[in-house]
Amino acid sequence: MTKEQRHKCMASIRSKNTSPEMAIRRGLHKRGYRFRIHVKSLPGTPDIVLPRHKTAILVNGCFWHGHKNCRKFVLPQSNTNFWEAKIARNIHRDEITCAHLTALGWHVITVWECEVATNSLTQAALDRIGREIAESTLLRSTRSEMREKTRTEMKMEQEEIMRRQAALEAEIDRIYPLPAKIRQLSKTALSLSDYMEEED
Ligand SMILES: [Zn+2]
Repeated sequence: MTKEQRHKCMASIRSKNTSPEMAIRRGLHKRGYRFRIHVKSLPGTPDIVLPRHKTAILVNGCFWHGHKNCRKFVLPQSNTNFWEAKIARNIHRDEITCAHLTALGWHVITVWECEVATNSLTQAALDRIGREIAESTLLRSTRSEMREKTRTEMKMEQEEIMRRQAALEAEIDRIYPLPAKIRQLSKTALSLSDYMEEED
């Protein structure tokens, strides 16, 4: 890389609307997906966000984001340590972004620059995105079904607690029955009346 090329590369790392990103955006739009771009309110300002599908798409340059086993990712011969450290930092930042988004319940899809190198590759990448969105949607509905089941189980548990409580109260009534008190009272009354009778 010449100094100028390197400078151009440096400038492009944070840049948006890169050609791989535009290719994905055009493709998604054609396939009827609705999305928002460069969403600042989400961790890492994801490139493409599909709110309805709770999916965030990160479009990564292969060099800057250190695409493993990719031909486009070749460390420069000079200042190798510098580039290595810089790219390692980017990889780390991507991992953190992904972890934050996942923790917030977002499905994260990473698309690499080399995946959109040709039109047919781009179509394949869009197919993959479509599959992943469908799978995560299915997973989400299964999860909410599970939550529903848990709610039902909690209701049943609550009812079981109330049943046990009622049974316990009945047991207490049986051991310390009200009739006993009445018996006691009537006994007192009897003795009293006996006494009163005696008095009379
Ligand atoms: Zn790549």
